[in-house]
Amino acid sequence: MQKDVRKFGISDKRGRVKTSADPYISGEGLKEPALCSSCKAFYRNKRWDLDPKAYAAMENSPEANWVTCPACQKIAESYPEGIVTLRGEYLWDHEEEIRNILRNEETKAMAKNPLERIIRMDREGDDLVIETTEEKLAEHLGRALHKAHQGELKVSWTEEHSICRVTWERGA
Ligand SMILES: [Zn+2]
Repeated sequence: MQKDVRKFGISDKRGRVKTSADPYISGEGLKEPALCSSCKAFYRNKRWDLDPKAYAAMENSPEANWVTCPACQKIAESYPEGIVTLRGEYLWDHEEEIRNILRNEETKAMAKNPLERIIRMDREGDDLVIETTEEKLAEHLGRALHKAHQGELKVSWTEEHSICRVTWERGA
């Protein structure tokens, strides 16, 4: 692993071009430990984590810095970076099962990165629309659904807004 003193500088865009368009701080520049009062995620050792015991140990510390984490900000402001649209007759015949898959995948993703969350999951006409805080989660949900229920999957990225659009469709 290369340690670069410019790691947190503006010039560093290695593989993280999309993050630069993200108006929400990912943690860089935050004073540690930073604690999110809404979801109890915390930022320590340069990463976001969810761990109720560790949170409880830090919350009364004078060292604690109170913040709203980027995921909670995106949820509060309805700022999705991933949009998944599901459609087709098969979807509504298996709605419960499909919703469960999506929620389970969100839980698994959050265990690895607490900032990956579903903002909302709503029926809009004949579509089921899921918005996510991170692009990666949208792609992940689409792939998980495709793996479990086949159908047709399309994943596209809009560079300038760093939004990942995923559509999945399956007929009867
Ligand atoms: Zn939060």
